Amino acid sequence: MKKGPHEKPPGADPGELKRRIIEFCIQQGADLVGFASVDRWDEEGSVPPEFRPRALFPDTETVIVLGIGMPLPIVETTPSILHKELYDTANIELDQIAFRLVRFLNKLGYPSYYFTRDGYGSLKVLKKRMAAAFGHVKAGYFAGLGTIGLSNNLLTPEFGSRVRLISVFTSARLEPSPMIEKELCIRCLACVKCCPKQAIKPRKDRIVGDLDKIACTEMAQELTRRRCYPCGICTKVCPIGADRKLYKQKSVMKKYLRESEALAADPDDPAYRTWTHVRKYGAWRKDELKEDD
Ligand code: SF4
Ligand code: SF4
Repeated sequence: MKKGPHEKPPGADPGELKRRIIEFCIQQGADLVGFASVDRWDEEGSVPPEFRPRALFPDTETVIVLGIGMPLPIVETTPSILHKELYDTANIELDQIAFRLVRFLNKLGYPSYYFTRDGYGSLKVLKKRMAAAFGHVKAGYFAGLGTIGLSNNLLTPEFGSRVRLISVFTSARLEPSPMIEKELCIRCLACVKCCPKQAIKPRKDRIVGDLDKIACTEMAQELTRRRCYPCGICTKVCPIGADRKLYKQKSVMKKYLRESEALAADPDDPAYRTWTHVRKYGAWRKDELKEDD
């Protein structure tokens, strides 16, 4: 007999269900999968109640957070058409995996829902109301995928902050992933020093810095007009992440820190050629922008 949408599968074992979910997500293309019990939002308390999972989907018991890593050498070209396309592709992939996971869980009898990876229609809208209805960074932290760094990004052991996230809310009660207790951010200040808008300000009383969201969004608006949104320089320069080992990039920090000065002195500086070549094509330079672009 066919199962109705709200029936639990006979003899469903939460451990077995979790294993099947992880297998499904990995097969669909997710790199990271974490599980947050809905109580973590209430226990920690920093997220306003109207932005917590049950305010969006009252049946939520578990939030499953999925991540896709962004290949470091592509992120390093930012701002570029190559980075823009990567960002768009990762977002589409995540939406598709989340949509499929919701349908997978619904068919198993666990009503589920997902919140899209961004959640604003335009940067103009974002600038007017500086928030999405749900935050994946905090969800990723509660799901044990990483810790939140000075830059306000989620830092993961695998990809640092070069990771895109999406959250699936499910009525299935699943064992939560352990949260990462040791801060991954080493307060190296690379994100602060390299941010082109000086939008990240360190604080003495906590790891997470103050973020000037207006300045960051204005940078994004300029890059949108140039056809090479998003910025992501703070994600590029963050030294955390095993992806640096994969790409054998352990001692690249000096290169990041002197990039804007070096390119101002010599736009063809050979040390930066692999990045500047990509930046030259497919997007407007700043000095080429016209009013109607
Ligand atoms: S995205 Fe760019 S402008 Fe925004 S905080 Fe990061 S480095 Fe600064
Ligand atoms: S760049 Fe350095 S200070 Fe900034 S988030 Fe990464 S580790 Fe922390």
